[in-house]
Amino acid sequence: MKIAVYSTKNYEKMAFSALQHKHQLTFIEESLSVASIDKARGLEGVCCFVTDLLDATVIRALSQMGIKLIALRSAGFDHVDLEAAKCAGITVVRVPQYSPQAVAEFAVALILLLSRNILKSVLHGFSNNFSLDELMGFNLYKKTIGIIGTGNIGTAFAKIMHGFGCQLLAVDPVKNPSCLALNVRYVTLDELLCQSDIVSLHCPLNNQTKYLMNAENYAKMKKGAMLINTSRGGLCDTSALIQALKSNHLGYAGLDVYENEKPIFFKNHGENKIHDELFLKLQNLPNVIITPHQAFLTKEAIENIVQTTINNITGFEQADIINEVRSTSC
Ligand code: NAD
Repeated sequence: MKIAVYSTKNYEKMAFSALQHKHQLTFIEESLSVASIDKARGLEGVCCFVTDLLDATVIRALSQMGIKLIALRSAGFDHVDLEAAKCAGITVVRVPQYSPQAVAEFAVALILLLSRNILKSVLHGFSNNFSLDELMGFNLYKKTIGIIGTGNIGTAFAKIMHGFGCQLLAVDPVKNPSCLALNVRYVTLDELLCQSDIVSLHCPLNNQTKYLMNAENYAKMKKGAMLINTSRGGLCDTSALIQALKSNHLGYAGLDVYENEKPIFFKNHGENKIHDELFLKLQNLPNVIITPHQAFLTKEAIENIVQTTINNITGFEQADIINEVRSTSC
């Protein structure tokens, strides 16, 4: 099939090129938007990342150009108007499980950076400050970890934290047998928030989970607790999070995602200023670590994403669709 691969990074180009397949891929560095849509003219499908705009306007325009397939290079699909795709007769496929460990391990890395002041210590070292002042940390052993969403990533995370000797609580409408086997205790959201020393988000972003973490829920968390978000920025009300951190009610936040991340993440701004006031406030708080949506970024995950994407495109071409995401309405 002839596919326009939007938001392509070099590492993806190399990974796609290393695979044997008969599809004709056109690599486009730009993100998909109304301005760049013309680059897909004459092709049959688009292959997109989380930075690409897939709202109703773009999807309708893609359909008018004859596009039949949107192949997502991501697990999350909250950036796609699925109803618009269904109405337009465009099939949407995704990569559901490329490496839950990549994201889970990164969540643990954020926890350790914060719990042991590792970032501060490395930065001190650059100016020859090797004193132990300000570096007191805390053990993870016997701490209570609250996991919101025990799907693929939440379960991989639970397994690691179990190894640290933590007590594990979880919230998920579906109890995962692998988590139950680790003695993960399913509780209500309120119980999880008020008992956990660290809360880690691993549920999808949708209408029900938008701003799941709001002022009310931050207030329910333990004083000095840590919030980790490697899922989607929209799960957290950033403004309320800033207040909770500023008032010292929350002690730490490790964030790989941010609700308005699209114009900021995935590019080097160099000397150019970032103008998002909310982001700047968050960035300037102590005990906050922000990383640019990189939790998925491992060699193994990229190889998997690329291979599954090729399989998804081949499946569509052969009318044997796999990994489809569908709207329930329309
Ligand atoms: P998954 O579908 O395997 O698991 C999601 C779990 O969340 C499911 O068990 C589901 O029942 C549960 N859930 C749904 N609504 C919930 C709610 N209101 N409260 C609690 N639990 C709820 O998905 P996954 O592969 O584990 O991925 C989870 C999320 O991680 C994705 O939706 C995506 O947003 C994010 N993600 C981030 C990165 C990154 O690089 N930062 C990479 C991949 C995925």
